[in-house]
Amino acid sequence: MKRILTAIAMSVTVFSMAGCCDKTAQTDDFQWQIDRFDDIKVMRYQVPGFSELPLEQKLLVYYLGEAAISGRDILADQNFCLNLPIRRTLEGIYKSYEGDRTSQEWTEFEKYLKKVWFANGIHHHYSGDKFAPGFTAEYFDTLLAATPDEVLPLDFAPREELVATIKPAMFDPALYAVRMNQTEGQDLLATSAMNYYEGVTQAEAEAFYAGMAASAGDDPTPISYGLNSKLMKDADGTIREIVWKEDGMYGAAIKQITFWLEKAAGVAVEPQKTIIENLVRYYRSGDLRDFDAYNVAWVRDTLSNVDFVNGFIENYGDPLGFKSSWESNANFMDTEATKRTEIISDNAQWFEDNSPVDPRYRKPVVKGVSAKVITVAMLGGDCFPSTPIGINLPNADWIRRDHGSKSVTIENITYAYDKAAEGSGSAAEFVLREEDRARMKEWGSIGSNLHTDLHECLGHGSGQLAPGVTGAEMRQYGSAIEESRADLFALYYIADPKLVELGLIPTMDVAWAEYASYMNNGLLTQLSRIAPGKNIEESHMRNRAAIAGWCYEKGMADNVIEKVVENGKTYFVVNDFEALRGLVGELLGEIQRIKSEGDFEAGRDFIETYGVRVDPVLHAEVIERFTALDLAPYGGFVNPVYELVRDEASGEVTDVKVTYEESYVDQMLRYSRDYSFLPSKN
Ligand code: ZN
Repeated sequence: MKRILTAIAMSVTVFSMAGCCDKTAQTDDFQWQIDRFDDIKVMRYQVPGFSELPLEQKLLVYYLGEAAISGRDILADQNFCLNLPIRRTLEGIYKSYEGDRTSQEWTEFEKYLKKVWFANGIHHHYSGDKFAPGFTAEYFDTLLAATPDEVLPLDFAPREELVATIKPAMFDPALYAVRMNQTEGQDLLATSAMNYYEGVTQAEAEAFYAGMAASAGDDPTPISYGLNSKLMKDADGTIREIVWKEDGMYGAAIKQITFWLEKAAGVAVEPQKTIIENLVRYYRSGDLRDFDAYNVAWVRDTLSNVDFVNGFIENYGDPLGFKSSWESNANFMDTEATKRTEIISDNAQWFEDNSPVDPRYRKPVVKGVSAKVITVAMLGGDCFPSTPIGINLPNADWIRRDHGSKSVTIENITYAYDKAAEGSGSAAEFVLREEDRARMKEWGSIGSNLHTDLHECLGHGSGQLAPGVTGAEMRQYGSAIEESRADLFALYYIADPKLVELGLIPTMDVAWAEYASYMNNGLLTQLSRIAPGKNIEESHMRNRAAIAGWCYEKGMADNVIEKVVENGKTYFVVNDFEALRGLVGELLGEIQRIKSEGDFEAGRDFIETYGVRVDPVLHAEVIERFTALDLAPYGGFVNPVYELVRDEASGEVTDVKVTYEESYVDQMLRYSRDYSFLPSKN
């Protein structure tokens, strides 16, 4: 559960601190935003430094990149069992329709397809709510009538049955309404559309995995039960796991992934060659012991310039937290910017020892925190098109305890976000005071990158549990509490004079820019991401709302954060930054206590009180202000296109060329044509 997603980017001009990041390959006339629909903007990112890599590393990136986009269908099927037949039907219509492509209804149809591509399914990628098509079922019928069999996914079912299955799923709002339900007191499996379980109740699934954990006894190196399988009940009532592996479920896509991984192993040098081979072994066996062996080797490799994520990694999509979605990226190190994260990891013990946390819940010895800044070259699975800006892996607690973790800040992505937000007018609209806007403009970019470094590299790795506490006690609040802990650690230390001493920030203004924008986001702008009438569901958003809401309330007597209404517009202004830091420290201590002691009630109360409910009046106001500026609350990316350059005579590869011209629609259609390996029914 260790990834960081973007908050709303304010339009700040990127200030390049010397040595911060080499952006020389990133030209100014580049078109960063290339598509815009509903609450989404699609951007491009550049891959500075790729052309300068030696050929072997370019090839390694290329092969890992092919592996990264080969698992796209897995995620779609994991999100919901009808996503593949629906997507393929929509694409069949989109490619073949010869009727009016300018009508209002066609425009709505196209928008719906763009949303399905973006979310890898028919539920919103962030909120999990099912999309409501902006066209009628009757219009859909006329489109279908004009669509020949050859372009429809009839491997799912004959035409009539296909249509009879997918139409209610698309158009009946009561059916499959949310991908993941987290409401306490309901059967979370029966009420969630995700495809990780079939025919089992929540109680049965929990008992199944409790039994597995019990039979392992007090194994100090437990596998991550259920991580790579679907749990099903057979006709005779037997509950069993269908494992995702080369000769199991999702095997056709996994075969493609291992094909490219083996190519990658062929050009990699040790220790990376063996690491990639370990991953291939795991994809063949499906044995989670093999996955752990791979992770241990992977986390120890801090020297390879090219690196990757590839596998069933994050459990955000399973309401019970066992199953992981498939995700991938291929990347290489940003050597210059990594000097910054090295300073942080070299001082990890100091940060741990000085944190405002009960000494019993601090780590006596902080192990193996490695941190780097990376440039991603390809995004896939649950990192595409919406991608995290920081990642900390592996997730298994015992590997983190015994071998440490690898933490990355993805700076070419945050750079693209900042460039795309330039000139959008968002800061002028939502930040009241000129001094705050000036600070954000000058230091906002450095502040948010540093926040990501601290969150990933120190925050998630900090702290320890009390004896007898497993870490699973927080149940459905676990992710939001864990993200709160990491954010609070980052917020507390970004405003520590130690950072100036270490040369990480030139002035405390960096911290105050981050404080102002964090509180502004948590209390105000992130409301733009919530549909009217809905509560906050997503873990990172709950965490940000909870921290900001708690600090606002606790500081009210001293006017630490002030709510100002001017000309009918609401603003939140931080009046006392030092006092706010005090509150952040106090809350960090409490959240660490909650996690360390497994205090479910206190964790639930914190999240439910401050992180879930939305003030409907303020909510409507924020949406109106966003709409007036045509701002998109969510962003994602298309990948660059890589092409092997061959010597004409010998046929040997002499170079790998990268280009950035492909449109969003073209890329999605190409991926569906060339990287779609699964049947429509899995
Ligand atoms: Zn995180």
